[in-house]
Amino acid sequence: MHAVTGKILWVDLSNKTSYEEKIPEELYKNVLSGLGLAAVILNKHIPPNSDPLGEDNILAFVSGLLTGTGSFLTGRWIVAAKSPLTNTWGDANCGGNLAPAIKQAGYDGIFIKGTSSHPVYIYIKNDQVMILPAEEYWGIDAIETENALIKKYQPQQPSVAVIGQAGENLSLISGIVNDRGRMAARSGLGAVMGSKKLKAIVITGNKKIAAHSPEKMKKLSHQFNRYIQFQPPFLPGFMTGFLGMIMRILPFQMAIDGMLYKILLKKWGTVSMNITSLEQGDAPVKNWDGYHGDFRSKQNIKYNPDRFQKLEINKYHCYSCPLGCGGISKFPNRDGETHKPEYETVTAFGSLLLNEDISSIYEINDILNRAGMDSISAGASIAYAYECFEKGILSLEETGGLNLTWGNSQILPELIHQMVHREKFGAFLTDGAKIAAQKLGNSKMSNPVHASGQELAMHDPRNDPGFAIHAVVEATPGRHTLGSNLYYEMFSLWKKLNSYPKISRFYHKNKKYQSSRENVLAAVANSKFISLLNGAGACLFGAFIGVHRFPIFEWLNAATGWQNTPEDYMQIGYNIHELKQVFNQKHSESLIHSITPRAIGLPPQKKGANQNRKVNLNEIVPAYFQELGWNEKTGQPTDQISNRIISIYVESQDNQ
Ligand code: SF4
Repeated sequence: MHAVTGKILWVDLSNKTSYEEKIPEELYKNVLSGLGLAAVILNKHIPPNSDPLGEDNILAFVSGLLTGTGSFLTGRWIVAAKSPLTNTWGDANCGGNLAPAIKQAGYDGIFIKGTSSHPVYIYIKNDQVMILPAEEYWGIDAIETENALIKKYQPQQPSVAVIGQAGENLSLISGIVNDRGRMAARSGLGAVMGSKKLKAIVITGNKKIAAHSPEKMKKLSHQFNRYIQFQPPFLPGFMTGFLGMIMRILPFQMAIDGMLYKILLKKWGTVSMNITSLEQGDAPVKNWDGYHGDFRSKQNIKYNPDRFQKLEINKYHCYSCPLGCGGISKFPNRDGETHKPEYETVTAFGSLLLNEDISSIYEINDILNRAGMDSISAGASIAYAYECFEKGILSLEETGGLNLTWGNSQILPELIHQMVHREKFGAFLTDGAKIAAQKLGNSKMSNPVHASGQELAMHDPRNDPGFAIHAVVEATPGRHTLGSNLYYEMFSLWKKLNSYPKISRFYHKNKKYQSSRENVLAAVANSKFISLLNGAGACLFGAFIGVHRFPIFEWLNAATGWQNTPEDYMQIGYNIHELKQVFNQKHSESLIHSITPRAIGLPPQKKGANQNRKVNLNEIVPAYFQELGWNEKTGQPTDQISNRIISIYVESQDNQ
């Protein structure tokens, strides 16, 4: 089959063996590769009720179906396992350079089972697989380790996935790092890698991936690239705050065309959204209890995206990405280079803590990238502690002398160091906000903001209720990359799929809060489409440009030789979505996640953009499940296509 390698690699760390397994074409036709492949295999091989940090958990590194075929913005790798943070399906995805390396080594995925008794790393060069001692790297940060391993294997230029000290210390908010500071941060999968005593995977290879129609791939990519290169002059940075203010004040909303977001991303990266989001009520403030006015006095100057741009040395591009939303940057106050902080980090350590010191955010971002700790969960957990400190739930004595007053950034490097090393007061926050609250006891009045244990990302459901829906209905709770009202607008699926509701150019904001059929269909479409993207290895930012410009369906056909319609591909997206839900049926007590009431306007805010807004999930969640054909009360899939798909894999195993 074209576009894929047709096999995966298994590595067993308990008995230090490895072997290959063939994957039948029929399976790719049902789930693509990437997340879909991981969902089938983890469903089959992780026993129910297994300990996420135990020997039975399996860590999957997978590459998307389109990776390496000549398409653009399709080089995301995904890591998946049972999440120790939420005890559900867990995954995280990342750009960087690992996805093509997995395929160039000859595999669509690397599946790691068992546990080593001592630190090891896995070296993969084409068919050669070695499990090697890693004592010398244990305790070293992720970037230093990656640099050392790349140097060791010169001139091969391998790609490396690595954990920092947070993963080694089994922090449930730790991630896996690639390309010197890009991170697959969510779901606590760094801790799964740490529990296996696996410090790193080093991958190199020279296998080629062939698309079915290389000429067609080239033509599609060329056409799409015209949209990427179109870049008119845009407003100065401070005006993005003005844009957000208008969006806040008007009772009507203009449907956002993804080209606008592309222009912002290309110019500034995700920090283009800092002040727009704050002004319009998207960026949470003061542990989700404040509003834009609490952080407004200087933020338009301090968080102006032009300030970030001035520090940028080079644009950063993931593999196969002409857009390049990332940046390699100087530090504001010292020598050295680092990845430019992303919107999520800037907000989690900015408005969420009322921190106006932008230079502290560069330092914190670098510390977290090195330690391999998720900046969303870390910032949200610290915000929770700040609120406890303000309310007198935590005393200066209990924090070990750390003054957790809103806006105080001085103590953050020390606090994060303690969290990463699970020591002193920091140990209280190492496993996230929900577990910290449990340590304090339920009788204490406190507000850790999360969905079923995973801290919410920096997008307020009171501003875009779609974030709340997807935070509670998806197999991995609390994620912002699985759907929202805005995402549906930008995907513009109705331009390729007639049955999907079209969003009017202007609409009243109240429409977003209704449990209307249109909103239900939009949420279902998001779930299917984003699952499809994750099977293809596509970047969400590419898909935001709209399916009439980002030729995902056409690339998939040209890469594989299939003749699928967009509807057929949405069915594949559904298959992947159902497989994740079926995984949770075996592993999780409930298929509907909880969400902190504060984040959905219970009680409603008294000021700001989200004043008096409530997200009513009671009607829309059952309607969402019903639309999928699942049990509307429990979220249990009734038509288990998944069993048929898993049996395709099982039969192929039997025949090997
Ligand atoms: S748009 Fe940004 S995150 Fe997406 S592939 Fe390009 S550089 Fe990576």
